Amino acid sequence: MPKNVVLMEIEQVTWELEDTKTLRLKWPEDYTVSFQTGQFITLYWPDAPKYKRAYSLSSSALEEGFFEVTIKRDGKMGTRMVDWAEAGQQLYVIPPVGRFLPVLEPDKHLVCIAGGSGVTPFRGFAREATQRQLSTRITVLYSVRTPKDIIFCEEFRQLEAANPNFRLLVTCTRLEEGDAWPGRRGRLDTDWILQEAGDLEQVIFYACGPTALVEATERLVRDELRLPKDQLRLEKWG
Ligand SMILES: Cc1cc2nc3c(=O)[nH]c(=O)nc-3n(C[C@H](O)[C@H](O)[C@H](O)COP(=O)(O)OP(=O)(O)OC[C@H]3O[C@@H](n4cnc5c(N)ncnc54)[C@H](O)[C@@H]3O)c2cc1C
Repeated sequence: MPKNVVLMEIEQVTWELEDTKTLRLKWPEDYTVSFQTGQFITLYWPDAPKYKRAYSLSSSALEEGFFEVTIKRDGKMGTRMVDWAEAGQQLYVIPPVGRFLPVLEPDKHLVCIAGGSGVTPFRGFAREATQRQLSTRITVLYSVRTPKDIIFCEEFRQLEAANPNFRLLVTCTRLEEGDAWPGRRGRLDTDWILQEAGDLEQVIFYACGPTALVEATERLVRDELRLPKDQLRLEKWG
């Protein structure tokens, strides 16, 4: 086993939706780690050491003593985590790595594009910017099937109330005509993204989640808008 792998206890389990759970993994005594908001950890069960999967941190790097990850019931590991993980169990954790980092500079506008569970790292972005009372603008453009699929809905609304520079904008793709929903309907599209992004010079686009959504954002920013590479950060899960 590599030296930096650490066995951590699941300290707390929170149901976010009926298919999505947040696990809080408690750092062992004397554990020290250097990491940043937006990175991911890799997890595996002690009884299946060959089956490792990556999960973005949904907590921020300002929060010490634990890591939080938020997992959707999907595939083998996603199903085991959501249906079987309980407080008191232990998981092996490979420490955070990754370059999906929020550029929290004063005049920047982070436009964060997410579908479904791809919103998880953006909770970390919003928490850190709010805790540090930064003037960096963060806009999360979030595509879900219906309002009941919005992960962290209540917390995002609280963050909006606490931080005038943070916004969560949701579009619902699977509503029936008569369904009540005051917000936007339909797919995440270029017009909406550009309308909410505003002045492109200060924007950094982030996209996280399933390959299709991430690649669509890549095509928009790189091929259509022709923005420089450093204005685009991608985290592909597929
Ligand atoms: C950097 C990174 C960060 C990530 N962060 C998160 C996160 O924060 N939250 C999160 O929930 N996930 C995250 N993921 C995805 C996660 O790592 C797992 O891939 C996910 O939990 C699915 O588990 P699995 O790989 O064991 O699925 P697998 O069993 O390998 O399945 C992979 C996909 O194939 C589909 N599939 C499997 N078997 C079949 C079949 N027989 N027929 C049709 N389709 C099938 C599954 O539905 C699934 O979509 C992240 C991935 C990466 C790379």
